[in-house]
Amino acid sequence: MADRELGFTTKMLTTPYAKQDPYNSLHMPVYETVAYEFETAEDIAGAFQDKKPAHAYSRSTNPSVEYLERKIVTATGGRAVLAMASGMAAISNTILALVKPGENILVSPHLFGHTYGLFHKTLRNLCIEPRFCNLLDYENLEKNIDENTRLLFFETVTNPQLEVANIRKLVKIAQKHNVLVVADSTLTPINVFSAKSFKIDVEIMSSTKFISGGGTSVGGIVVDTGVNDWSEVPTLVSFHEKKGDMALMAKLRKEIFRHFGPALSPRAAQLQSMGLDILELRVERSYENCLRLAEHFTNHPSIKKLTYPGLASSEYYQLSKEQFNGIPGTIMTFDLSTMDDCYSFMDRLKIIRRATNMNDNKSLIIHPWSTIYAEYPEPLRMEMDVRETLLRLSVGIEDVDDLIGDMEQALT
Ligand SMILES: *Cc1c(COP(=O)(O)O)cnc(C)c1O
Repeated sequence: MADRELGFTTKMLTTPYAKQDPYNSLHMPVYETVAYEFETAEDIAGAFQDKKPAHAYSRSTNPSVEYLERKIVTATGGRAVLAMASGMAAISNTILALVKPGENILVSPHLFGHTYGLFHKTLRNLCIEPRFCNLLDYENLEKNIDENTRLLFFETVTNPQLEVANIRKLVKIAQKHNVLVVADSTLTPINVFSAKSFKIDVEIMSSTKFISGGGTSVGGIVVDTGVNDWSEVPTLVSFHEKKGDMALMAKLRKEIFRHFGPALSPRAAQLQSMGLDILELRVERSYENCLRLAEHFTNHPSIKKLTYPGLASSEYYQLSKEQFNGIPGTIMTFDLSTMDDCYSFMDRLKIIRRATNMNDNKSLIIHPWSTIYAEYPEPLRMEMDVRETLLRLSVGIEDVDDLIGDMEQALT
């Protein structure tokens, strides 16, 4: 065979285990264990002192979790990967590893609700200042940068506004000012988007979404893309001296992740490893369904405004093609006339489920204003561009004609 790079699904089905399985199991077993036995006292000391890497305790590492991490390394071409108990754990741990009190972070107010809460409340209380700015206004963005700006955080496609970041532009501005770039790519799965090729320093995703294979388990992923050698980040200086370009992973594994303790369970790691095997198939089907639904309903008389950046009529269509292979996720939003209309539409649905979460096999609908964002005062919700007439639909893999039929009957 020529040296052609393997396709995504082939890579997922052929990623080797870190160690050969003693029974030659073709499916990676679930290692439901806390601790691991060592032959000698010297061996266990060697493991603790990093002289002889080995699993010792499952809060730090576990073979099933390690296998998931290896698959993500294979998929992304990253330097190293750390899987955690949730997307929020992945975001908060990464920021705490890179930013110290007194420093600030550039971030859009258009964010997943709990990420907004993390910046707006929790990080502020730790004296890390979020500078909320419009990431589509590059001049203003640059004005917000000062000597204490450590990083720029953005979502590749924002949830639920579905605003598409112009990643090359953002990375260029950040690099000019020596600002780190951390991207949450949850909406644009790793088979369609390569953070490394855009020179993003750290990629984060909630594996609860696409990677879990259909709403099976909660998890989060941190990818050190290999773009940065970490020699110039103040919080990583001592780790850089000892571990070189593995400094970020070392800081997480030996300090932040170890001390906060958000370990992914072995069972969740197994479900998510299986999710990766069928990720590409599911993304393709959900995308086809999402596009068909968006095209079908975009001019429906009851729908005021339908947003899907994969639609040819979207202002983000071209950018989505360049950045995400034309697949800017499988989430669409639309506005009905009133909030009452939203509620009664939701209540009439028979196939599409009323639930939070996204990228399940099942299509899921939610009214963000009265749920994920309900805790925020109205003016803040307006600033986040979350309207009371807005619905968010995560399109699943059902037969598309059944989804169209369900929407049709619920809209009348
Ligand atoms: C769901 C989500 C998160 C949080 O992930 P959890 O696994 O629920 O903690 C973060 N960012 C985005 C864009 C999300 O959709």
